[in-house]
Amino acid sequence: MLDEAAAANELMRLARAIAHHNRLYHSDDNPEISDAEFDALVRRNAELEAQFPHLIRDDSPSRKVGHEVAASPLAKVRHDQRMFSLDNAFSDDDVADFVTRVRRFLALGEDAPVAFTAEDKIDGLSCSLRYEHGRLVRAATRGDGEVGEDVTANVRMIADIAEQLSGKVPDLFEIRGEVYMAKQDFVALNQAQEAADGKIFANPRNAAAGSLRQKDPAVTAARPLRFLAWGWGAASDVPEASQHAMMQRIADWGLPVSPLLTRCESVSAMLEHYRSIERARSDLPYDIDGVVYKVDRLDWQERLGFVAKAPRWGIAHKFPAERAETTLEAIDIQLGRTGKLTPVGRLKPVTVGGVVVSNVTLHNRDEIARLGVRPGDRVVIQRAGDVIPQVVENLTRDVPRDAWHFPDHCPECDSEAVAEEGEVDVRCTGGLICPAQRTERLKHFVSRAALDIEGLGEKTIDEFFALGWLESPADIFRLRRRREDIVGREGWKDKSVDNLLAAIEAKRQPDAARLLFGLGIRHVGAVTARDLLKRFATLQALREVAQRALAEDAEALADLTSIDGIGPAVVEALGDFFHEPHNIAVWDDILSEVSPPPYVVETRDSAVAGKTVVFTGALETMSRDEAKAQAERLGARAAGSVSAKTDLVVAGPGAGSKLKKAQELGIEVIDEAAWAEIVKAAG
Ligand SMILES: [Zn+2]
Repeated sequence: MLDEAAAANELMRLARAIAHHNRLYHSDDNPEISDAEFDALVRRNAELEAQFPHLIRDDSPSRKVGHEVAASPLAKVRHDQRMFSLDNAFSDDDVADFVTRVRRFLALGEDAPVAFTAEDKIDGLSCSLRYEHGRLVRAATRGDGEVGEDVTANVRMIADIAEQLSGKVPDLFEIRGEVYMAKQDFVALNQAQEAADGKIFANPRNAAAGSLRQKDPAVTAARPLRFLAWGWGAASDVPEASQHAMMQRIADWGLPVSPLLTRCESVSAMLEHYRSIERARSDLPYDIDGVVYKVDRLDWQERLGFVAKAPRWGIAHKFPAERAETTLEAIDIQLGRTGKLTPVGRLKPVTVGGVVVSNVTLHNRDEIARLGVRPGDRVVIQRAGDVIPQVVENLTRDVPRDAWHFPDHCPECDSEAVAEEGEVDVRCTGGLICPAQRTERLKHFVSRAALDIEGLGEKTIDEFFALGWLESPADIFRLRRRREDIVGREGWKDKSVDNLLAAIEAKRQPDAARLLFGLGIRHVGAVTARDLLKRFATLQALREVAQRALAEDAEALADLTSIDGIGPAVVEALGDFFHEPHNIAVWDDILSEVSPPPYVVETRDSAVAGKTVVFTGALETMSRDEAKAQAERLGARAAGSVSAKTDLVVAGPGAGSKLKKAQELGIEVIDEAAWAEIVKAAG
């Protein structure tokens, strides 16, 4: 499994990621990931912390779940000189036209010599490195060309990038180039990420960008990033007269430039170099997507200048995407541990860009419908820097053949498989009984943020599951009947078995919110579980209201959705859960083994105790989360919407429909200052 360094590294990333998404969700109201994905991060963090308790970070999300975690984005940097992008050429004719335009602009005769540099165009992230007196003082990403992000601290972690240039360097010189990840390093990174359940990157470019644009430079340091220079920006002096000589000079100063950079004196020489790079493409250690030509004489570059955002003196000659035609032999469904059904196309093996390909991802149900693919179809597949190739075209779409239907039941457990409203992914709803998901669910159930059963680690769960001793969470509480069997197994002693069984017995009266979270219902993360229990106090009451909501009972629906933070996704997920008889069996089973006491919210006496409060509009002295936490401390319930049950509305500037509704209903409305008085009065 994971070693300590990798675990520490991942915990650090999780702390950052969770803080980031928390902020997007709470402060910016602009989540990038679904609640389920967010919960998966929290769950993963809890699992790792359970496994490596001594690695729990001071800023661990488990210590502040539900609170806003400060995470400011990277600082913005305005480029002294715009970072341009290049126009593209797609054909030999386009290149010839480019050269003709250059000649015409410079009023050169048809036979006058014009030289160009030609170099491979790396698919990475453009960066500008500012050197003052030869020392690296600032690094910024391209951004929109005018304003990029400050990645100085991160760039200092890249071995290719010299902190101090050697030789005679102008007082100010900005070197520009590409931060990238080599293909081999990319594959290794993804393997490590997969082993650690981390983010899998789609291609080396994404991996490089994701690794560089980190708030914590230590993350960047752990990633195998490289750099190649291709030009420069602001400079107090440019000591050479040509692009080619200047790039050689930059290499002499100590920054890598492409070994394939050359100088061409004719269109045919440019195209020849293009073809030789194209032939070498699949053997190069990094992904490239074309060849860049630039007018070699710098005085001519100066005269040619720019049109809009691109220079007249350069162009990128793109390679066609690497494609091949083959037969789609079958479509298989793979089941992820979160229950997601992913269609995978099995191909008659074919070589694309030097790689033999036999599988393609078909992404999801919509993608299959878009392509209209069925087993037997001839398809065009494409590798565009991505490791996993994609189907771009179905050549036999019009051939009559039975349509392939996306399964509506799980191939593993036969539970219903559904896509939620607005989502393209189809998931198995049989979470607790689905074998593919079961061990993962069991691990989650005992993890630190859930039931937190000490001594019942992942290995033990795998071991007992393989023996058929653990099928569902309730089986954990029946392990005591197997005491003698466990003692008889290698690696177990009387004492360790007793310790384990005691740890299990200690959870016979678990915290209801942890138990609910432990059941792994989609969208019901640790925070949501607490919010639900705060409102309904017992699991039985929650189940009743969820089942009534499932039967379209309007009052139950309103009851659920009036809880701040509970939206339609949670209500639907609860409905899906209770819709599946297997899940109810598991639910009843665990509740026959454990008895969680009713959830009690600790409160203080205050003017608003027992009341329902809604915050709306902008708050100026605190975050929305802080306000909600205050309300809860004062014994009030913070709700997300105004209804007849609302007692008090705290309205800040910009309050809209909620304020209007409160006024219509005659509900008391106060401002933030008056709220602060209530908080102060409660002490
Ligand atoms: Zn299933």
